[in-house]
Amino acid sequence: MRGQADTTGFIRVEFQFQPNQAIHLQIPPDLSACGASVLAHRSKLRLHADKADYFQIAVAGVRLQLRLHAAKGDGILSNTPFILACMKARTFSGEEVMTRTMCAAVFRGPGKLSLESRPVPEIKKDTDVLLEVEGASICGTDLHILADPPGHPATLGSIMGHEYVARVVDAGIAVSDLNVGDRVVVDPNITCGNCAYCKRGMANMCSQMTSLGIFIDGGFAEFNLAPARSLYRIDSETPIEQAIFAEPLSCVLNGFNQAQIQPGDHVVVLGAGPIGLLFIQLFRASGAGRVIAVEPAPLRRRFALASGADVVLDPGSDDCVARVMEHTEIGADIVVDAVGTLLPRAIELVRRRGRIILFGMNSHAQQTIAQNTITRHEISILGAYISRHTFPQVVKLLESQVLPLPKLVTHRVSLPEIDKAFAALRSGEAIEVIIKP
Ligand SMILES: [Zn+2]
Ligand SMILES: [Zn+2]
Repeated sequence: MRGQADTTGFIRVEFQFQPNQAIHLQIPPDLSACGASVLAHRSKLRLHADKADYFQIAVAGVRLQLRLHAAKGDGILSNTPFILACMKARTFSGEEVMTRTMCAAVFRGPGKLSLESRPVPEIKKDTDVLLEVEGASICGTDLHILADPPGHPATLGSIMGHEYVARVVDAGIAVSDLNVGDRVVVDPNITCGNCAYCKRGMANMCSQMTSLGIFIDGGFAEFNLAPARSLYRIDSETPIEQAIFAEPLSCVLNGFNQAQIQPGDHVVVLGAGPIGLLFIQLFRASGAGRVIAVEPAPLRRRFALASGADVVLDPGSDDCVARVMEHTEIGADIVVDAVGTLLPRAIELVRRRGRIILFGMNSHAQQTIAQNTITRHEISILGAYISRHTFPQVVKLLESQVLPLPKLVTHRVSLPEIDKAFAALRSGEAIEVIIKP
């Protein structure tokens, strides 16, 4: 079922069901009390609106559109998501029919993402929140999951998508801090709260962690079910081109915090893909001295400059060590590896007593390391994995629109065209893609 209020005072609701199936439609008490009436429909319809709390309908088609009229000023329109969540269709014998289906992109094995019709999820636990997805984006992890052989595990049959912005349409009874209609960003990593790491405040090291959009159903769908504690309210005025970055930015902020940048620090970012570009924007906004990006792809080097890099180097043709020394005198104060294989290079570029942040992940990386250089130069090498209590800060960053994030959005596609988005990312012509369900 889909529905929305328009400005003319109508609530349009659309149901899908089996051919020749008869249903009755329950109307929430506050709507029937104000005398809602069915004004328009498609397909053959028999309708009785004389009963107080439901309409009886028999149709021959598989799709029915209703326009429910509500008088202005009776509060119905402002309460629309609640009404839509409450509407249920049943057969005349009282059995609930699956009226609510949605389009979803489902992981079906190595290299296989399939568009399928799925039931709209229902609240099961008291702490569940039903979300209507406003937009989702594709992350490097999604590309790894769909590689053949896969570079990242995922649950077969689960709906993918772990970066999404959504609106609350229904919530379990134990959800007290979110309201229907709230706009939220989602922390897809669900921690147990109970293991030795969670108990020590190291939630990103949780040994029982699961992830929306990877191991359980995520945001490449019209609707999604998420636990309330994974959701962070974000202002409705914040453009989707900002809000869509919440998840990757919260991970990048974890690495950024470990870098402990001081104003004027010179920074090298290895790899100017979506993650490297977020690092560049954050360092620029935080008073970095020189920001130097090292990236082989010309398009990404252009995005690095647009994101605030002062210098972009091509590792294929530039002598990176010489160029970095020229710009920093003694080497970079901070080097970020946003690729996952470049620790040896980072050791060559960082100054003595500098810090290296290892953010990119490649499970096959087995490097030969100049260990003595690390000791002799007192280099700090820090791993940074996903987000750690960084969502509240990220929401502030997005709402204040401090970073030029919208510049990174290169493609917008609808969910049925999601293959096009993956193709654009694989070919390197896309940076950030927004998928509208
Ligand atoms: Zn991601
Ligand atoms: Zn845990």
